[in-house]
Amino acid sequence: METILVLAHTENDGSLAKSAREALHAAATLHKSLAGSKFVVGLIGENVQAAANSIAACPATKYFGVTGADFSQLRYATDTAAAEAICKAAQATIVVAPATSRWARVLPGVAQRLGGRADTHVTGVAAADGKISINRWYYRQRMEGVSMRTQRPWFVGIDPGSQTACDCGAGAAAVEMVTVNLGDATKRTTVIGIREPKADAQTIRPDAQLMFVTGAGWTKKQADGQPHLPEAEKLILDFLKKSRASLGSSKSLVDLGGEGQAVLPFLSHMNQIGQTGATPRHAKGLSTCCHGEEPHTVGWRFIGERRAVNLDPNCGWARGKADVLYVADAFKVMAKVNELMAVQT
Ligand SMILES: Cc1cc2nc3c(=O)[nH]c(=O)nc-3n(C[C@H](O)[C@H](O)[C@H](O)COP(=O)(O)OP(=O)(O)OC[C@H]3O[C@@H](n4cnc5c(N)ncnc54)[C@H](O)[C@@H]3O)c2cc1C
Repeated sequence: METILVLAHTENDGSLAKSAREALHAAATLHKSLAGSKFVVGLIGENVQAAANSIAACPATKYFGVTGADFSQLRYATDTAAAEAICKAAQATIVVAPATSRWARVLPGVAQRLGGRADTHVTGVAAADGKISINRWYYRQRMEGVSMRTQRPWFVGIDPGSQTACDCGAGAAAVEMVTVNLGDATKRTTVIGIREPKADAQTIRPDAQLMFVTGAGWTKKQADGQPHLPEAEKLILDFLKKSRASLGSSKSLVDLGGEGQAVLPFLSHMNQIGQTGATPRHAKGLSTCCHGEEPHTVGWRFIGERRAVNLDPNCGWARGKADVLYVADAFKVMAKVNELMAVQT
């Protein structure tokens, strides 16, 4: 009989992130299709009661918690110790966890300690005829694979954004506390702060409906023989401000900055979409001044509806990579879009 454990960490404010609720949804669905399975939740954080209460209506029969100031910060040594203790207390055979940057580092280590196996970037978990399988993408999301394992415990890291978040309601959950004896060596690392861009400079928004992609064309000489960088910057930032879209970029555009050329200052390699960049998930995507080459568009694998604006009717988007291609000047199109959005707001 399988015991499915959802392992999550709380956020700084004691809540559960959407990615944790997505893992919960995947695990609860698996539990439903796996007759005789047990379903339990394990939470780690300074205080986990509020998080447990917030999902108390989920089908879990038991809640385990590791709490205390030592577990408030992301730190490999204490996180692995806590996760290991919960897995043992729950006698978990399948551990489903959100593949946050914190858990992605920790889970393979815990699997190693417990003689189990870990799979990363999982986008689906299912059971049929008592057998569990997972889905994940390979070769930069070009191929989808389905795999099974006999080894237990099996750690499954669910890619954030790949599932619907469980909307199970709140209540009162009884949390069984698990004690972890931490040696001094586990506390040698101290997180003294997190450096991140200011909120208004944060252009990567994984939860946005729309991904807006900028390509190197924004920096190229235009019909008048001149580049128009200040105008490009204003058009793009205006659109982002109004639409709250997430900002993506082609490799060529972000590389230009690294090569010391004039470029849009709010872009970094973090914005790059593609084979050597990110594979984000958004309902819609709009590409501007980007050619739509294969290494770029493999990063669009999980974008629902794709549109592109390019002056070139033979660009990559025209070859089946976009649902709609506007053969037009992106400077003019985005100026008009911003004008229309200003009227609407
Ligand atoms: C191993 C490898 C991995 C790679 N990985 C990635 C990756 O992860 N991500 C990635 O993006 N690339 C990647 N590349 C690079 C990729 O092949 C392309 O070189 C890159 O995506 C091109 O960027 P671009 O379309 O912005 O620039 P360009 O190819 O220079 O295209 C600019 C486009 O802008 C258009 N344009 C210009 N002015 C306007 C205007 N006013 N209105 C509308 N359109 C206009 C032009 O018609 C042109 O199509 C990789 C390459 C290799 C070899």
